[in-house]
Amino acid sequence: ILIILAAVFIVASVLLGYLMAGRAMVPISNAFNRLKEFTADASHELRTPLSIMQSSLEVIEAEDRNKLSSFSLTVLEDLKDEVKRMSNLVNNLLFIARSDNEQQQINKTWFSLTDVLEKLRRNFQYEAEKNQINLNVKSPKSIKAFGDKEKITQLLYIIVENAIKYNVPNGTIEISVYKENNQLRINISDTGIGIPSEHINRIFDRFYRVDQSRSRESGGNGLGLSIAKWIVQSHNGKLEVTSEEGKGSMFSVLLPLPKQNEKEQS
Ligand code: ADP
Repeated sequence: ILIILAAVFIVASVLLGYLMAGRAMVPISNAFNRLKEFTADASHELRTPLSIMQSSLEVIEAEDRNKLSSFSLTVLEDLKDEVKRMSNLVNNLLFIARSDNEQQQINKTWFSLTDVLEKLRRNFQYEAEKNQINLNVKSPKSIKAFGDKEKITQLLYIIVENAIKYNVPNGTIEISVYKENNQLRINISDTGIGIPSEHINRIFDRFYRVDQSRSRESGGNGLGLSIAKWIVQSHNGKLEVTSEEGKGSMFSVLLPLPKQNEKEQS
């Protein structure tokens, strides 16, 4: 009898605990949802004033450049940098809030990865040259990927931008594409500062930065790789990294390729 009573007591306590915990979770998850909505709304609302500030500063620069003292010009440049940094932060926060709220749309189609990489090379050429970095793209002549073209582009831009930011003068960045069995592999390797092994598992966490000051100096906010990882995972792909401190890093994007007939792929 004692054993039965003890068993009943244990089962009842577990059930009661489960029910109580469940009830306690409701207000917590409601608060979380409200917080996510707040982040999304606040980021969205901040976009308009920030873009007005950005264009106003550009107007001042274009019209009054000759009338401004060198001190005012420096202040103007700093202001432009800060507004740009804030716009990036707000856009990244909005992306994350939308993905947390499951409001992020993924529109998958076949698209030319060759064209995306060619445009990327053109867009980053100036930034790379300015930092004395050699940017090479090695891709088969016409290769197609399957996914959300805009988001895959965003993901590649995040990784290449990092490869420039965390590189060294006379460094190199190489982007190469391989078609494997049922997936595409895009390797982005750099000869930059590398990532110390004790940090490598954390670089995909939100706001995680190995070197706060270097990241901030180059306009970073520690959100890029968490967004990149979300984009890859929303395509059922993988984002891998290998790195050696002082030598460089390689990020590999693995994207599944669904079986399609030749007509759709071409
Ligand atoms: P950030 O805006 O700081 O660049 P990310 O989320 O894109 O944020 O990256 C997180 C951190 O990972 C960076 O702050 C940097 O320390 C490290 N990191 C990312 N890419 C590289 C790279 N190619 N080489 C060295 N470190 C990198």
